[in-house]
Parts: sequence; structure tokens; C-alpha cells
Amino acid sequence: MASKYMLSTLNISISEAATPPICSSCHRLMEPGEHGVEFLCPNCGKAVIRRCKRCRQLGVPYVCPNCGFRGP
Ligand SMILES: [Zn+2]
Ligand SMILES: [Zn+2]
Repeated sequence: MASKYMLSTLNISISEAATPPICSSCHRLMEPGEHGVEFLCPNCGKAVIRRCKRCRQLGVPYVCPNCGFRGP
């Protein structure tokens, strides 16, 4: 009984933490140590834009998922 309860709470905490940062330009998973950037949309300020190191260096444009603003 007790172990079942513990398992279910563990599952909830894992699913909540599993929000991997995805690059807004190339939609690839950003590696933790690759020095990607994360900032709010300069137009609406509501959506978080993420860019991986490669897209930052290449200047790949991003599109805001909230207002459709194209950057950089
Ligand atoms: Zn990228
Ligand atoms: Zn926006």
C-alpha cells in the first residue's frame, strides 16, 4: 500500500521535471552545457524563446509561438 503511493508521487514529480529545453529555431533538444540562450519574446514578452549555440552563431531566425514575431 505505502510503496504504491510512493511510486505514484515519484511518477508525478518526474513528469513535471521533464520539460526539456528545445531550440525555437531548429527545434532540437538543447544540451545542458552548450551555452544556449533563453529570453522572453521582444514583441509580446510572454513566450520564452530558446536558441541553441549553433543557431545563435548562424543567426537562424526564430518565430514566437505566442504572437508569431520573427527574430532576431
Ligand atoms: Zn537551434
Ligand atoms: Zn511573441
